[in-house]
Amino acid sequence: MKKIFVIGAGASGLMAAITAADKALQINEKIEVTVLEHMDRAGVKILQTGNGRCNLTNAFVDEMCYQNDDTAFVMHIIKKFMPKDTVAFFNSIGVLTKSRTGYAGTEGLPLEYIYPNSDQAATVLEALLNRGIELGVQIEYGIEIKNIEKKGDAFVINASHLDKDIKYLADAVIIATGSKAAPKTGSDGSGYNLAKAFGHHIIKPLPALVPLESPDKICKTMTGVRSDGQIRIFSGDRQIAEEKGEIQFADYGISGIPVFQVSRHAVRLLDMHKEVYALIDLIPMLDSKALQAMLEKLSKENGERTLLLVLCGMMNKKIATAVMQSLGIPLRTKIGDCSISDIRQIVHEIKAFRLKISGCKSFDRAQVCSGGVALNETDGETLESKLAENLYFCGEILDVDGVCGGYNLQWAWSSGFVAGSAAVGAKHL
Ligand SMILES: Cc1cc2nc3c(=O)[nH]c(=O)nc-3n(C[C@H](O)[C@H](O)[C@H](O)COP(=O)(O)OP(=O)(O)OC[C@H]3O[C@@H](n4cnc5c(N)ncnc54)[C@H](O)[C@@H]3O)c2cc1C
Repeated sequence: MKKIFVIGAGASGLMAAITAADKALQINEKIEVTVLEHMDRAGVKILQTGNGRCNLTNAFVDEMCYQNDDTAFVMHIIKKFMPKDTVAFFNSIGVLTKSRTGYAGTEGLPLEYIYPNSDQAATVLEALLNRGIELGVQIEYGIEIKNIEKKGDAFVINASHLDKDIKYLADAVIIATGSKAAPKTGSDGSGYNLAKAFGHHIIKPLPALVPLESPDKICKTMTGVRSDGQIRIFSGDRQIAEEKGEIQFADYGISGIPVFQVSRHAVRLLDMHKEVYALIDLIPMLDSKALQAMLEKLSKENGERTLLLVLCGMMNKKIATAVMQSLGIPLRTKIGDCSISDIRQIVHEIKAFRLKISGCKSFDRAQVCSGGVALNETDGETLESKLAENLYFCGEILDVDGVCGGYNLQWAWSSGFVAGSAAVGAKHL
């Protein structure tokens, strides 16, 4: 009997195992599917997704939703198992889904976030595990994989359980060990070594969808504020990324969804020792001209008011204070004492508030990683390794990272589906 082993019982690994077992049934082949997981339970990261609600996909998807270098590769795989297939699959295994519509980002993408109707990520995990049981998928927990060797056409997986050595013989192996993001969930980066042993190159994994750190003391003034804004990331004169949404200010720097979305670009540039800074538009609803006109009018008609009082009518008081502090304007300054060129400077500060970016929070606080197994070393149709026949990859171990909105789980489902199908031999998907 053909034996397929999946390493890692996370989102992509469970999907790959279920798909392989299901395809085997469909083509009436006897195939044993076993998942080897080093934690004592499956899908710990799934339980944390979407703040415990699991944003399992998004009805809208295109290349802009992925940020790695080869987004065409990603979309080619996604097209084999689209968000509508994800919804149909989860509905078919008993998960009722619902959507929350909205526009996101600078591009105004018409996003439609999909969640389980229960608002519980556990619903998704339990449905996957139950489907696996129905299809005869075995999951072994607490398995430490030492190495995987290719012996002729087969693989030998050398592992241990509670200090007892075990050898598994496999016809096909799917590595689905995730990245280094949130390592307490089990995805601790150990899977990269399994891939490296077959000669695969790993694009340096770095935290992504992560808060950014700034050494600027002004951050302390703004700590605790959540405010709508637009963030643009620059290196030198070059704008690298931009995003709109609710920015969270903290004593260490900035966080919130728009910051997460641009973070992978900032982090990769910092890793190349480039200088990185953010320009934040603190009142994106008004353009510079309108803001200038408004402040000039207030200066003429209410000149006795303090500038701080005027700014506090437009934005959070801590942010107004930070704007004035960063321009070195005393807090008691009256708006009537500000010249037109002073007002121009204030407007510039509000529309392009500059923060130096010096780093990011650790992998512990990252939702995903950028980097991973180089895509050009895998087959773009099947996700089979080009370096070892019948070895497959799926999920975040590959050099794929999506923006927030359900795109990382969609990659896990799509790539798991493709690798699981291909491992059975159903290569023509
Ligand atoms: C806090 C948080 C919130 C998130 N929210 C969302 C969201 O709402 N929507 C979304 O799309 N994405 C979200 N993500 C991202 C998403 O969870 C991941 O992209 C996805 O889980 C990756 O799936 P995976 O199968 O590649 O890896 P994982 O789900 O991490 O699974 C990997 C599995 O492999 C196991 N493993 C690792 N190494 C080994 C080894 N050597 N031997 C055996 N087993 C091993 C791990 O224990 C784990 O069970 C979130 C991530 C985090 C951290």
